[in-house]
Amino acid sequence: MAESGDSLLKTTDGEVVLTEGERNGNRESKHCEDTSMEAESEHQNKDAEERLPENQSETEQSPVTVQEERPVERRTSESDDMEEEEREEEETEQDTAEQFAQIKERIQKSKLYLDVEPHQWPIIYSPDYNISFLGFEKLHPFDSGKWGKVYSLLKKECMLCDETIICPLEATEDDLLVAHTKKYISRLKWSISVAGITEVPPVALLPNYIVQKKVLRPLRLQTGGSILAAKLAMERGWAINIGGGFHHCSSKQGGGFCAYADITLALRFLFHQGTIQKAMILDLDAHQGNGHERDFMQDKESVYILDVYNRHIYPRDGFAKRGISRKVEVNYFIADEQYMTLVASNLEAALNEFEPDILVYNAGTDSLEGDPLGALSISPQGIIRRDMMVFEFARDRPKPIPIVMVTSGGYQRNNADIIAASILNLWRRGLISCPEAEEFQAKQDGPSTSSRQTPEGEETPSTSNSESAPQGNRGFFRSFLGFFGK
Ligand SMILES: [Zn+2]
Repeated sequence: MAESGDSLLKTTDGEVVLTEGERNGNRESKHCEDTSMEAESEHQNKDAEERLPENQSETEQSPVTVQEERPVERRTSESDDMEEEEREEEETEQDTAEQFAQIKERIQKSKLYLDVEPHQWPIIYSPDYNISFLGFEKLHPFDSGKWGKVYSLLKKECMLCDETIICPLEATEDDLLVAHTKKYISRLKWSISVAGITEVPPVALLPNYIVQKKVLRPLRLQTGGSILAAKLAMERGWAINIGGGFHHCSSKQGGGFCAYADITLALRFLFHQGTIQKAMILDLDAHQGNGHERDFMQDKESVYILDVYNRHIYPRDGFAKRGISRKVEVNYFIADEQYMTLVASNLEAALNEFEPDILVYNAGTDSLEGDPLGALSISPQGIIRRDMMVFEFARDRPKPIPIVMVTSGGYQRNNADIIAASILNLWRRGLISCPEAEEFQAKQDGPSTSSRQTPEGEETPSTSNSESAPQGNRGFFRSFLGFFGK
């Protein structure tokens, strides 16, 4: 995900600047230490960036700043001060206990954890994910029909069908309040706020009920999808939400086309139910995932964030970096080989440092070459190999880690093709499977329809409805999957 204001900047040397944030247990620490020389040269600027809260919500979240905000004048009686502090502490504890109980109640009442049939893939999608309204969606570079295209392509390749996919429910206000503040949710009732978050100024002129229905509802559905996907990953070992990955949104603030903090919500649901104790977020979208970083900044012992992003582009959120446990900042136009080595070595090191109960994989494809916002140079094959590698890492641990993938950013017309090709590759490699769904599909389609059945190394897929499948797509998948079969 990203802000449309990002511009494609001049090519620099493309050199990687790797800054491995330490696993930092000290919550008072200003930020992770940077280890590279190049990072050090910018250290001063970053410090300045991190010292300056960007808005009120940051100030509220920063333990350092909160202390600074205490009144300078002390009252004369020390005992008065102590009494007041004790009272404040008690009130805070009461508030926290009350909030905790409220959140638990909200989760218990939630209907998002749908009953799923065994013949349904843990792949989540709704046709209503897609945003389309009087051409307004065209005012943002984001392809707001991307999710539907991914689904259609998977369907064309006979991996799944309407009966074997899971359609999520829309996250209600109560669901959203599990992570979001009331103040933030109220702000979305103003079209002008939504215009800012979605970066489509004309949205500000629309009546809010239209904005809710046409813009926010699809995003709430995707949020419901991520929450359900995380739960299914715990049950089935893996799950994919074809949408979601709104990693710039925190509980208090949206931005960069992200209106709801779906990753935070998905994890809060699991934490509150006691399903997990520890989670890792692997964020490979080209942008820094400042939303979840802000939300879990105070929970670094239970949420480990490994973020690989272009250091020069939006959001450059110095404060949020404090939430990252392992930070890998790269320069413009990093290419496959260097990128893959960085992702592999850092993921391995992260998993050796921290054993999560779930891996949330924010698989943005705006790292693809030619992306006007991500400004990296990963080839389509590189994206597919990256996703495969992440799933292999999760599977090959002594105890396999449940993995949930969300698709996040990606701003070119071919992103959908690549996401679909990547999911097909995971399936073909046996990294994801659902025997009941495959059996159901086989019965529907008749014999010799599943691309999974094709012998390794041969071009795939060949389907019974190949007559109706556009040549372009079939050629595309053949070139990708053939590449991987060799
Ligand atoms: Zn992005």
